[in-house]
Amino acid sequence: MPTTLRALQADVTTLAVDAIVNAANRSLLGGGGVDGAIHRAAGPELLAECRGLGGCATGEARITRGYRLPARYVIHTVGPVWHGGRSGEAELLAACYRHSVELAEGHQLASLAFPGISTGVYGYPVDAAARIAVATVRAATERAVYPREIIFCCFSAADLAIYERLLN
Ligand code: ADP
Repeated sequence: MPTTLRALQADVTTLAVDAIVNAANRSLLGGGGVDGAIHRAAGPELLAECRGLGGCATGEARITRGYRLPARYVIHTVGPVWHGGRSGEAELLAACYRHSVELAEGHQLASLAFPGISTGVYGYPVDAAARIAVATVRAATERAVYPREIIFCCFSAADLAIYERLLN
């Protein structure tokens, strides 16, 4: 059975999945947007574990426990800042999705939920980012047993419409 891909509109911190993905920054020490929301919901133990990781390069991913979140784990990935599209942004964004799926697969996690990496403060155009997200996740799960289900967690109805169009 292939991995199921679906999109829904939700606050990713409320999802009871095996892992949620965090759109982190290279320090892994918290920030605004979804990163701030995840740290607030997980509690201070998350920041303590992140301190021990020593940061993360753009395009890479790291896994921690989820602490007070309904999700068991958090996969922290650092998306590229949008500089117009000619600075390797697409490859780096694809690497975020690929490395996050690989971590989930390595930990045999059944369900994984992504927010729109880089599409907030980092300024990546949502349509282009969603195309990369769906194509990369599809390719990365082609022969994988885990994860069984991947959710694209959209914060807005407009973002959800973009993902639904790509998935159908
Ligand atoms: P980045 O710095 O990678 O752009 P942001 O956190 O600014 O990260 O935004 C990434 C995406 O996450 C945006 O689409 C934003 O609307 C969305 N977002 C913000 N808060 C949440 C949340 N609680 N749940 C799901 N998505 C969220």
